Amino acid sequence: MALTGLDIYKLLPKTNCRECGFPTCLAFAMQLAQKKVELTKCPYVSEAAKAQLDAASAPPIKLVTLGEGSFKVQIGEEQVLFRHDDKFYHETAIAVRINDDLDDSSFNARIEKIKKLLFQRIGFEIKVNLVALFNKSNDAGKFTSRAKELISKLPHGLILMSNNPAALKSAAEAVKTRRPLIFAADTSNFETLGKLSKDLNLPLAVKGKSLDELSNLTSKLKEMGVDEMILSLETDGNLLKEIEAQTLIRRAALKKSFRPLGYPTLSFAFAPDPYAEAANAVTSICKYAGIVVTDLVEPHHILPLLVARQNIYSNPQKPIAVEPKLYPIREPNENSPLMFTTNFSLTYFTVEGEVDASRVPSWILAVDTEGLSVLTAYSGDKLNEKVVAAAMKKADVENKVKHRKIIIPGLVAVMSGALEEELGGKWKVIVGPKEAAYLPKFLKETWRPD
Ligand code: SF4
Repeated sequence: MALTGLDIYKLLPKTNCRECGFPTCLAFAMQLAQKKVELTKCPYVSEAAKAQLDAASAPPIKLVTLGEGSFKVQIGEEQVLFRHDDKFYHETAIAVRINDDLDDSSFNARIEKIKKLLFQRIGFEIKVNLVALFNKSNDAGKFTSRAKELISKLPHGLILMSNNPAALKSAAEAVKTRRPLIFAADTSNFETLGKLSKDLNLPLAVKGKSLDELSNLTSKLKEMGVDEMILSLETDGNLLKEIEAQTLIRRAALKKSFRPLGYPTLSFAFAPDPYAEAANAVTSICKYAGIVVTDLVEPHHILPLLVARQNIYSNPQKPIAVEPKLYPIREPNENSPLMFTTNFSLTYFTVEGEVDASRVPSWILAVDTEGLSVLTAYSGDKLNEKVVAAAMKKADVENKVKHRKIIIPGLVAVMSGALEEELGGKWKVIVGPKEAAYLPKFLKETWRPD
């Protein structure tokens, strides 16, 4: 449980020496309880008190690290139940399952598909992070050789899934440098797998049929010295149970500071229909899963998951924005069209994509609207004729194009007169389409520099 200000006060020296910058130890304790000050500000805390206070101030959900290099993922250390209260910090890792009993050609074909599950969206790389190797063969040798094969052919992190502790031991030892997740300790094997996790310093998934069973297991494993754990509640593919469990776990960790459930979670999205499976996965991403395991491997099935994750894990307080400046698309010259949009990433990259697809070399001026989209910025007065004129001046567009025409988004057609006036009547304002999708047609058929 979290310590109150009074609990903390009892552990302080109570000399009121003021060296921490507060008039009394009690005032300091109150601030510490609200996490507004660091314990290090008091130089006189005893080692025993420090250990107690450090444990109490540990994050309510443990941070767990899997994989390595550019495919290293960290999950956990979330602070809020609702994204708009702050933000979600460590995005859900997406894992694609692969069975170890596939014949070589099917195994390699699936690896090749997994390699392609990497996309660019609004200036960011979004990708599948993990591969979940399932010991369907129940053969420890086969499982280990497939695990070795995977790390030689893919850079992804691994989840080693088996009901056989000997197979898990053999595979985990063989690929431990990749920092795989061992799946999973339960009431029948937790001592063996806890020891394996501790000996190899690898994270351990813990599975149980109820939250009580899970918390009993994590408490016992914690006593054994296992630090990084991931919770997996068996919900038999019932999405309602899944959401309920994920919510209860997150609430217990954040609101009750209940340490035995203070770990990230793992969900299985499996469903007979790929679209139902994608919907399961997206639901779990929205509702707190640290890892989602899926059988989906087609790009058109996986991309919606990655896009949903990117949206949920963006900062709602700070829209994703591109640098406000003039962007040349396809080597434009002084006769190329000039248009503006806002610096909200989603807007900018949508416009950029359409302009690029038109194959008409163009200039796009991304106006600084603090990352707001066109209509939102216009309604909030972040996008008006003065802002656009200032952005044009700053980007020196007068010396980039010979013509004096600027294309404005159709959604702010109402601004055209005021903008022409603001630009001293030297520029002609052309109202572009309302939807970026119509830009290629507009640029090819309507645009003329003279
Ligand atoms: S520095 Fe420590 S002992 Fe001194 S007032 Fe602050 S909390 Fe109390």
